[in-house]
Amino acid sequence: MDFEAERARLGWNADRQAELERLGDAALLAARVVVEHRGSYGLAGSAVKTARPAGRLRREGGAWPAVGDWVAVEPAAGDGVIQHVLARTSLLERKRPGVDRAQAVAANIDIVFAVTSAEHPPNLRRVERTLAMILAGGARPAVVLNKIDLAGDADGDLRALASASGGAPCIGTSAATGAGVQALRALLPPGATGALLGPSGAGKSSLVNALLGGDRLATGAVRVSDGKGRHTTTRRELLELPGGACLIDTPGMRELGLWDAGDGIDRTFADLAELAAACRFRDCSHHGEPGCAVAAALDSGALDAARFASFEKLRREDAFQERRIDPRSAAATRQRWKAVHKQHRARSRVDPKLRDD
Ligand code: GDP
Ligand code: ZN
Repeated sequence: MDFEAERARLGWNADRQAELERLGDAALLAARVVVEHRGSYGLAGSAVKTARPAGRLRREGGAWPAVGDWVAVEPAAGDGVIQHVLARTSLLERKRPGVDRAQAVAANIDIVFAVTSAEHPPNLRRVERTLAMILAGGARPAVVLNKIDLAGDADGDLRALASASGGAPCIGTSAATGAGVQALRALLPPGATGALLGPSGAGKSSLVNALLGGDRLATGAVRVSDGKGRHTTTRRELLELPGGACLIDTPGMRELGLWDAGDGIDRTFADLAELAAACRFRDCSHHGEPGCAVAAALDSGALDAARFASFEKLRREDAFQERRIDPRSAAATRQRWKAVHKQHRARSRVDPKLRDD
C-alpha cells in the first residue's frame, strides 16, 4: 500500500509535513480521521487503521480530534494512540441549544456547498446566515441550487442567490439529470475536501451519490474498536471521490444548527407567529408594547405562559448563534447592550434599590 500517494489524495501537504517534523518524534505517523465512533477513530493514510486519543489530549484541553483532522499517531499493538491533532485550516462546530460548549463537527474542509432546493423560491436570509457560518468556520462557501429540473425559474433563482452570496459561486444542479454535477466537481480539485450542508430533502445524499459516480467502494465500511477489545463496523464519513478529492458526509454535518434553527422555531411555534402578526408593531417584542396580541393572549389564557417562555428561550439561543458568527449582528448587539447598561445606570442613580453592583 502506497500511503504517501493516499495521503496526497487526502490533502497532505508541505505545511502539514513541516508541522509533523517539528514534533521531532520519528515514531509518529501522519493519518487523517475518516470516522469517529464512540471515542474510537478510524484513520486513513497510514498503516494504523484505528486509534484512540492519548489521555494527555483531554487533560491539556487542546484540540480534540474530529472527522477530517490530520493527526500524528503512535503505532501500537491493537489501537494506535493519537498524540497530536495538527493545525486545522477550518473547523465547523455545532452549538446545541442548552449546551455551553460548541461541538466540533468536522475539520479541514476547504469548501462547503450550501444546498438548497429549487422547488421553492430560495430563502435568501437563510442562505446568508449559512454562508456567514461557513466563513466563520474558515471554509469557503458555495451555493448549490439543486433540483433545477423542477424549478419554475432556475435562472432567476440563481440571480437572486448570487445577489445574496457575497461573491461565493452559485451553481444550479440536478442530481436527477446530472446537470451541473461537473461544475461541482470542478470546485473539488485533487486533495481538496468538500462537504454538503442544507435542509433535509434538498438532495444532499443524491448529490453525494452523483459525485461518487456509483463508486460504492469509496463509502467502504471501517472497523473500529471500542477500547474493550470489541470491534464494530461503521460507515466511513470521509469519502474519497473518483477525481482525487474528498467529501465529508457526517450526520452532524447535516444537522449543523443554524441552517434550520430559525425555520424550525417558526414552524414549531406557528401559533405564536400568527399571534405576533396581529401585534400593532411589526417588530413588537411582546414585552409591554401597546396593542400587543401576544400579551392579550397571555392575559386571556389563550396562550400558555410556559409555551411563550420556551419560544423566547429558543429565540435567544438562535440569536446567540447569529451573534457568534455575524460581526454586523454582533456590533448591533453591543450597541443594544450599551444602551441597556446606560439606562440601567441612570435608573440606579435615582433608585438605590435597583443597584446590583
Ligand atoms: P437530503 O435529505 O438532502 O439528503 O435529500 P435526498 O438526497 O435524500 O433527496 C430527497 C428527495 O429528493 C429524494 O426523493 C431524491 O430522489 C429527490 N431528489 C434529489 N435531488 C433531486 C433532483 O435534482 N431532482 C429531482 N427531481 N429530485 C431530486
Ligand atoms: Zn406583541
